[in-house]
Amino acid sequence: MHTRSAHRSLLVVGSVALDDIDGPFGMHRDLLGGSASFIARAASYFTRQVAVVAVVGDDFPARHVDELAERGVDVSGIERRPGETFHWVGKYADNLATRETIDTRLGVFAEFAPKLEAHHRKAELVLLGNIDPALQLDVVRQVERPMLVAADTMNLWISIKRDDLVSVLRKVHTLMLNDEEARQLAEEHNLRNAAAKILKMGPTSVVIKRGDAGALLFHGGGSFAAPALPLADVRDPTGAGDSFAGGFLGYLAYAGNFEPETIRTAMIMGSVMGSFAVEKFSVDGLRDLSAERIQQRFDEMAELVRFEGVRL
Ligand code: AMP
Repeated sequence: MHTRSAHRSLLVVGSVALDDIDGPFGMHRDLLGGSASFIARAASYFTRQVAVVAVVGDDFPARHVDELAERGVDVSGIERRPGETFHWVGKYADNLATRETIDTRLGVFAEFAPKLEAHHRKAELVLLGNIDPALQLDVVRQVERPMLVAADTMNLWISIKRDDLVSVLRKVHTLMLNDEEARQLAEEHNLRNAAAKILKMGPTSVVIKRGDAGALLFHGGGSFAAPALPLADVRDPTGAGDSFAGGFLGYLAYAGNFEPETIRTAMIMGSVMGSFAVEKFSVDGLRDLSAERIQQRFDEMAELVRFEGVRL
């Protein structure tokens, strides 16, 4: 990576969860999950200034927080409260492409109303992980002068909290969501037209994630497609989108500018981090990575889409 690192600060607000994941590889219980868990780990490979604001219950294993701290992540905003940690149960189809939510137990998340500490309010980049848009709005209002605000969302919030989500969009530079969610939010089947509609709702760029078909970026500078690496061994797609977001924002924090070319590179970095995440359960695929391994996958991506120009 030749860009000189700027190491801007990145504040991540999201869920920290315990997940039960069912699917072709059997049932795995009480795995570390939650949007913030994946985002912070993925971003921590790019910038030393990642901070997490989240809530966990008193049943949450301390080692998960310690491990994040060992990666240099500021965990002072992870509040521990009496009660059960947010628990999500998901089941994947045999093709690993579709999943359904079997159960969601909010636990301490139901009362989550983050009050940011002074140093968190000074964050330069903010990533609002997939949580209730009313909370996303509350958080973004507390950040003093963010250079870039990105947000993720999901079908649930588009269905039941549309007005709050529309308010969040007015404060967001980059919206990240999957293709079905983009269609649902824009009420438009064609993805390009859906993106154009979403851009009119506030964000200056929209990233549409399409699972193993890669991701599309739409912004003023046109559009860009990042492929997903064809992997030989995919175990657990949970957190792929969050790891993409962590790689994307982490790289922007590292680069320190949001030029169209930098955003394209960030798209590839997002796809690289998503590819690591899906190879193992929980956050295991994001453990013990190195700049060399990330660089190697980045180069594989470049090779995957390299082609010669022609003049017909
Ligand atoms: P992804 O696969 O990137 O969509 O993210 C999956 C993670 O999102 C899982 O680890 C879940 O714990 C978390 N999650 C699922 N539903 C919700 C929700 N309603 N609010 C917050 N986090 C959630």
